[in-house]
Amino acid sequence: MSDVVRTKILVVEDDKAIRELIHIFLEKSGIEPFVAISAEAGLEILKNQEISIVITDVELPGMNGLELTKIIRHNYKADVIIMTGYSLNYSIEDAMARGASDLIIKPIRLEDLLLRINVVLKKRTEKQENCRKMEELTHLTTRDDLTGLFNTRQFYKHIAQEVDRSNRYFRPLTLILMDIDNFKSLNDTYGHLFGDKILSGIGEIIKSAIRMQDTAYRYAGDEFTIILPETELEMAISVAERVRHAVEYETQALSYPKPLKVTVSIGVVEYLTDEEIKSFVHRADSAMYTSKNKGRNKISIGPVLSQPV
Ligand code: GH3
Ligand code: MG
Repeated sequence: MSDVVRTKILVVEDDKAIRELIHIFLEKSGIEPFVAISAEAGLEILKNQEISIVITDVELPGMNGLELTKIIRHNYKADVIIMTGYSLNYSIEDAMARGASDLIIKPIRLEDLLLRINVVLKKRTEKQENCRKMEELTHLTTRDDLTGLFNTRQFYKHIAQEVDRSNRYFRPLTLILMDIDNFKSLNDTYGHLFGDKILSGIGEIIKSAIRMQDTAYRYAGDEFTIILPETELEMAISVAERVRHAVEYETQALSYPKPLKVTVSIGVVEYLTDEEIKSFVHRADSAMYTSKNKGRNKISIGPVLSQPV
């Protein structure tokens, strides 16, 4: 039994007899019970234990059960079941409005309490499962399968937001665009699967070379972009150089024992106030092609003036 994780329930009740009765009953029902004689003592327990449900009396010395419910809902993931006497005229709606998941009237029938607990636990599981599915779905629709980087759709969404912010607050914004050198011949020589391995390896290299505020995207087949908010050209060039260098050296280990050197050609460009997104991306692309023309495995800065697209 010791390695079974039991649901943790906290009972906040100042009446010793009720507190102990519920404690024993929960223990017998396979739950790990915690008890507190006041809201304040209950909050101390919540700080250190992953409590699933708090069962609280309304009338307590010090902070009452409704105030406690509000604090729990704002700060913890626990559900709350409120216990109240008939005289206190709280309806289930009142309790729910304060953030409770259920309300139970005293005197409490223990079987009834267990039933309510099970309903709340079931709803918790369903909610967690829904959250997990939502996260999975969000991941699927925003990421590129192979590299785990954001996809092109997200690139255009994020760049629109950043361009907007840059124009509004006159903040610097830069864009890095890179393309793997001679990737077609790598695919032809070593096969598409090996090419995929290199692509996902470069994805990992980019993730670890960029800073917290930067976001990276698989832009197209062998092209990647990085959006660098609050960043001027000089700093962006040093990020690009870190990526370029890491790709050149770290892909050697990735392709071992094949005597292979994979490199990227990079374009870096700073946003010009009120520039169209299309022109911003186009300038980064032009800079990347300059790097290709200069012999690849290079970094070039985008033309300052917007090119006709
Ligand atoms: P360059 O240095 O001029 O960029 O030469 P390149 O051979 O890399 O030319 P280009 O960038 O036009 O070629 C991109 C290649 O990337 C062509 C395509 O077969 C390959 N590619 C695109 N998507 C994938 C993918 O998901 N997996 C693999 N393995 N290859 C891909
Ligand atoms: Mg290429």
